[in-house]
Amino acid sequence: MTSTVSASVAGSWINGAAVTTGGAAHQVINPADGSVVAELKLATPADVDTAVAAARAAQPDWGRAAPVERSTVLAKLAALMNEHADELVAEEVSQTGKPARLAREFDVPGSIDNVDFFAGAARHLEGKATAEYSGDHTSSIRREPVGVVATITPWNYPLQMAVWKVLPALAAGCSVVIKPAELTPLTTLTLARLATEAGLPDGVFNVVTGAGGDVGTALAGHPDVDVVTFTGSTPVGRKVMAAAAAHGHRTQLELGGKAPFVVFDDADLDAAIQGAVAGALINTGQDCTAATRAIVARDLYDDFVSGVAEVMSKVVVGDPDDEDTDLGPLISMAHRAKVSGMVERAPGQGGRIVTGGSAPDRPGSFYLPTVIADVAEDSEVYRDEIFGPVLTVRSFTDDDDALRQANDTAYGLAASAWTRDVYRAQRASREINAGCVWINDHIPIISEMPHGGVGASGFGKDMSDYSFEEYLTIKHVMSDITGVAEKDWHRIIFTKR
Ligand code: NAP
Repeated sequence: MTSTVSASVAGSWINGAAVTTGGAAHQVINPADGSVVAELKLATPADVDTAVAAARAAQPDWGRAAPVERSTVLAKLAALMNEHADELVAEEVSQTGKPARLAREFDVPGSIDNVDFFAGAARHLEGKATAEYSGDHTSSIRREPVGVVATITPWNYPLQMAVWKVLPALAAGCSVVIKPAELTPLTTLTLARLATEAGLPDGVFNVVTGAGGDVGTALAGHPDVDVVTFTGSTPVGRKVMAAAAAHGHRTQLELGGKAPFVVFDDADLDAAIQGAVAGALINTGQDCTAATRAIVARDLYDDFVSGVAEVMSKVVVGDPDDEDTDLGPLISMAHRAKVSGMVERAPGQGGRIVTGGSAPDRPGSFYLPTVIADVAEDSEVYRDEIFGPVLTVRSFTDDDDALRQANDTAYGLAASAWTRDVYRAQRASREINAGCVWINDHIPIISEMPHGGVGASGFGKDMSDYSFEEYLTIKHVMSDITGVAEKDWHRIIFTKR
């Protein structure tokens, strides 16, 4: 293991400095081998108050800074992240167990590109044109920072999820207090340190570490924040929304997914097989958009099932630092127990395990790539988020049935349709209920385009200019242009002076 960081780190970053907070001692564990990556002291609800107060104090000046000033700091942050890319990769690999290849070619460059995008986007926040809609007034729109943003992120892509939440907020002129997942705080703390080094004023970007039950609850329900943004599971997202609602605060929720992967009978079968394996196994399947429900035309069904099983059997499971490793461990032993429990119950609910279905014989929370065919529509593995390297497969009879099955879920984050027929592709992209529909691919994301779901997958957008809507308020400024004391409309209210 070359990525092991083993260090004692301060548990929070508040008001531009590392702070050893007053909560419990905590160890960050490498799930690939159970080794201790770092030790830190968690924050307490009192530390959350301190961080929110720092963010409140810092926000007005940052919000009034010229866009070019904000842009310059964020561009410097992107440059510093580039310089520290190896450190970010090592931390991300050690705390999550994801393959170094994935961290180096996806997580870290994707995060840097997102920072870079928002450095540019900070300079062109636009509104509707100024105009005389009433005839007697000039109306204009001001898009103003919403204020202090509380954000809570999950463990699966710690750096990317932090960047997706924090960067549009900073670019919009907000200040932020973020709570990363307790299991994976390291890259979020490094991001805050680099932001300060890049010239971000103290207090604009604060990190508090701790468990969801106390620090998360304190942050989501804090009376002095203006908006609460969250990425994580659907049940926790609903708790966060309830806590924020107690103060009438805005929320944005990026929640779970159960993406359909629809293979029509005219699809390029080889491309669909490759795409299903990549889409199901990315980040050991711990991806909210992962391909989890393959819905395949009957004519292609048997070849698809044997094809994905064959490709999966060649996937290299192993040491995340090894260049040849394709699949790292799940995030923890507890999460592996959840995944294996769901897989083990599947045959009792009609599923047929074609490959995988067990843990390999090695230390760490590894689980083998798994294909479960013939799953019943009401089975747990088909309906609930597994969040592991598991692909379920069902067949469909005709296009109506395919689209019905694709939409037969409470979730609506992402989906893909595989076909060479342009009309089928258009119909699928229109009729599948999801925040993103890929055609003949599954997974790619891009900073310029939005990410976010519908239904049980939440609402609001990360990435792209659309994400600014979460961090801005719209103010209408209406200026009289007649200069007369007795305005025409006054006669509606009183006729005689
Ligand atoms: P999770 O259990 O919901 O936790 C997410 C975050 O919420 C963590 O920081 C957690 O803290 C915190 N938390 C837990 N209980 C809380 C509470 N009562 N109040 C406030 N915060 C609380 O999710 P996860 O297991 O980390 O991540 C996996 C989930 O995230 C999956 O469902 C996946 O689909 C979803 N996800 C969605 C997207 C998307 O863009 N839609 C992206 C990535 C992941 P602790 O863990 O420290 O206790």
